[in-house]
Amino acid sequence: MNYDAIIVGSGQGGNPLAFRLADLGWSVALIEKKDLGGTCINVGCTPTKTMVHRAQVAHYARNAARWGVNASNVSVDLARIVAQKDEVVLSFRGGRQKQVDRRANLRLHRGHARFVGAHQLKVGDDLLESEKIFIDTGGRPSIPAIPGLETVSYLTNESVMQLTALPGCRKRSKPKECNSCSTPAPRASKTRTAPSTYRSKAPRAPRASPARIS
Ligand SMILES: Cc1cc2nc3c(=O)[nH]c(=O)nc-3n(C[C@H](O)[C@H](O)[C@H](O)COP(=O)(O)OP(=O)(O)OC[C@H]3O[C@@H](n4cnc5c(N)ncnc54)[C@H](O)[C@@H]3O)c2cc1C
Repeated sequence: MNYDAIIVGSGQGGNPLAFRLADLGWSVALIEKKDLGGTCINVGCTPTKTMVHRAQVAHYARNAARWGVNASNVSVDLARIVAQKDEVVLSFRGGRQKQVDRRANLRLHRGHARFVGAHQLKVGDDLLESEKIFIDTGGRPSIPAIPGLETVSYLTNESVMQLTALPGCRKRSKPKECNSCSTPAPRASKTRTAPSTYRSKAPRAPRASPARIS
């Protein structure tokens, strides 16, 4: 498949470029291996700001008396907030899909792009060619090379936003209702292993550079 331009990565860099070139009449291939919208929409700006907004609301509610408002028994339903955050992310991602769909000369290829020649990329079994290939592969969490890290749990910007209980709640020694997230807190464990909800996906080998295309 030959295109006027190929863009690898559908983030804040790749999408506007792909849309603009397609609008100028170019035949464009946009390649995305994960979710349309890249870091910002899926695991960056959009979800974090949705969560920060809810934190702000909780802050106002807990400190309402300062502004002459009576609010009592304020608690946070983190699972519900995470579900709302996921809804916002899905809706933004859907918006990007619509922007792709409405452009006939823009084709979205799903999969991991890798160079097989100076002007050739492979995505699965598809061979894509163009004189102009733009690499907009952005960033992803970089796991520092700390000895022993692979043996313990840790969070990244991706996994932290899936937590449905605050880590502080889990550390409470008494199994009473946590006033921060409404989650019944279990007894404190003597082991140093974090609960499974805090586990990130299997650690990857540390990388030297923030983004790499292979
Ligand atoms: C937690 C967090 C919060 C943030 N909050 C803000 C904020 O509030 N405001 C702000 O301005 N910025 C924020 N940022 C920064 C912002 O997300 C990035 O600047 C922006 O997403 C970069 O866009 P990009 O297009 O360069 O890359 P990305 O958005 O990372 O997109 C790159 C895309 O390329 C894809 N890709 C990578 N390699 C390949 C391959 N080989 N084949 C196919 N596809 C591939 C990836 O899957 C990804 O979808 C935040 C970032 C993080 C991590």
